[in-house]
Amino acid sequence: MKDSYFCSQDCFKRNWNQHKAVHKQATGKSLVSIDCTVVSNNILGTRVHNPFPSYFFTGSVRPVYPLSPMRTVPKSIPHPDWSVTGIPKGEKRLNRAKIEILDAKGQEAMRTVCRLAREVLDVVAAEVRPGITTDYLDEVCHKACVDRKVFFPEVLCLLSLSNSVKSYPSPLNYNHFPKSLCTSPNEVVCHGIPDQRILLDGDIVNLDISIYHGGYHADLNETYYVGDRALADPDSVRVVETTRECLDKAIELVKPGTLIREFGVVIEKHAKSRNCAVVATWGGHGINTEFHPPPWIPHYAKNKAVGVCKPGMTFTIEPILTLGKPREVYWPDNWTNTTVDGKRTAQFGARRDALQDDTAI
Ligand SMILES: [Zn+2]
Repeated sequence: MKDSYFCSQDCFKRNWNQHKAVHKQATGKSLVSIDCTVVSNNILGTRVHNPFPSYFFTGSVRPVYPLSPMRTVPKSIPHPDWSVTGIPKGEKRLNRAKIEILDAKGQEAMRTVCRLAREVLDVVAAEVRPGITTDYLDEVCHKACVDRKVFFPEVLCLLSLSNSVKSYPSPLNYNHFPKSLCTSPNEVVCHGIPDQRILLDGDIVNLDISIYHGGYHADLNETYYVGDRALADPDSVRVVETTRECLDKAIELVKPGTLIREFGVVIEKHAKSRNCAVVATWGGHGINTEFHPPPWIPHYAKNKAVGVCKPGMTFTIEPILTLGKPREVYWPDNWTNTTVDGKRTAQFGARRDALQDDTAI
């Protein structure tokens, strides 16, 4: 059963009884702790496989290849500068000490793109359930960005804007990232590549959506429970809910005059109170006409970030917490990073009521 996987939703359903029986017989271990075991062919007739069989994986999640072909975005939708070459040239040229201040028009454009991104996240999240592949979630995300019809009837009445919600999925070809969405299950810290792995009852999964629309980027993510088993696991609930609360506590501080280094202080304090740790490698960042401009927003205490929140600044706060050591190691795909001890991790960079709040500074 080594290096064999479910390859599709259909395969998963077809083989579930056999799969369950084998597990019961074999170890008596929880299904949650073991990855898929059924060999099959995917729809294209290609055998799915682990592309890095000799790599030492820290937890139970495995890459399940082949990746689906790269999805395309119609030419009519404005593309960011990395869409062809894979290199974010504008972003590389930025002065890291200069924080962009948006005027009223820019702020409005940010509200629009963030609202659209929230909708895309909701569309994708609605598909999260045991038995689907992360590649399917990528397909849903991609289509929600490029194909989606207008969701605001009131806008449709005023203007016939069939292109009004169409967006480029920012991760696509960003530094050669192959997909339109990041999917990070269980011990995957962030930047997981959607592939043929099936989501299992008991998984948690982070969906990280970024879109480019009207010349501006939005970037938001949330961690979701897959099936009832995940909700019944106290450690999964602890890391997910604590991370959500950390973000809420940080957002409460967002106003002109707040020191950027303060966010990490409240995040780490709350994380520690629930016996969780904060990943220091990844931080929040500015977001505007560029995807990852300054400032860098550390999520940990005792950080040395300089700068203060000013009206017109737009940035993300997106803490990542772990149940174990807050250190990560990379898979050979150079994107997926998992916790060093294989323990679970969660991230939040979005809040359901954020649009009503309008706390944007
Ligand atoms: Zn981000």
